[in-house]
Amino acid sequence: MKNIRCLLTEEEIAEAVARLGKQLTQEYSGRELTILGVLTGSIVLVTDLMRRIEVPHQLGLVQASSYRGKTTEAGELRINLDFLPEIRGRDVLLVDDIFDTGQTLSRISEQLELFEPKRIRSAVLLWKKSRTQVDLVPDHYCFDIPDEFVVGYGLDYNGEYRNLPYIGVIENQVS
Ligand code: 5GP
Ligand code: MG
Ligand code: MG
Repeated sequence: MKNIRCLLTEEEIAEAVARLGKQLTQEYSGRELTILGVLTGSIVLVTDLMRRIEVPHQLGLVQASSYRGKTTEAGELRINLDFLPEIRGRDVLLVDDIFDTGQTLSRISEQLELFEPKRIRSAVLLWKKSRTQVDLVPDHYCFDIPDEFVVGYGLDYNGEYRNLPYIGVIENQVS
C-alpha cells in the first residue's frame, strides 16, 4: 500500500467549490452557459460544481489524455471531441481538475474556437503556477499548489486514486 499525505482536505475543497459556484452564478446569470468537463480528471469537480451554479446550463464532456501510465510525466496529448454538444453562440466554461503546463486547456480552447462559441472561459480546482508554459491562464481557480504530483478528487495515478475525497501526494511505499 502507498502512503498518502493530505494536501487539501475534503472540507477545504467543498468550501472552495461552493465559493466558486457562487462567483459563477453571478458571472453567468442571463447567459447561455454550457459547462464542458474535461475527462477524466474533472468528473468529481464537475458534478460538485454544477450543483453550486444556480443558473440553467447545459453539460458536455470532452476527452483529453496525455499518456502517463505508471510515470508522472505527460506524453503526447490526444483530444476527442466526439461527444461535444452544439456550442455555437454559447458561453462555454471549460472545467478541469488541474492546470499544469496549460497545454491541455490551451489546445482544447483552440479546437473549440472552430465551433464558434460566443466565449470560452475556464475554471480549474488546482493550478501549479510555477509550471505554466502557455500564454493562457485559468479564468478561475481554487488553489495554487506546489509542483508535486497530486491524486484524489478525480486525479489519478496509473488510473487509480480518483475516488479519494481529498487531494494528496503519494509519499513512500509502505509494505
Ligand atoms: P497540462 O496539459 O496543463 O500540463 O496538464 C493537464 C493534465 O495533466 C491534467 O488534466 C491532469 O490530467 C494531468 N496532470 C497534471 N498534473 C497532475 C498531477 O499533479 N496529478 C495528476 N494526477 N494529474 C496531473
Ligand atoms: Mg486531465
Ligand atoms: Mg491523469
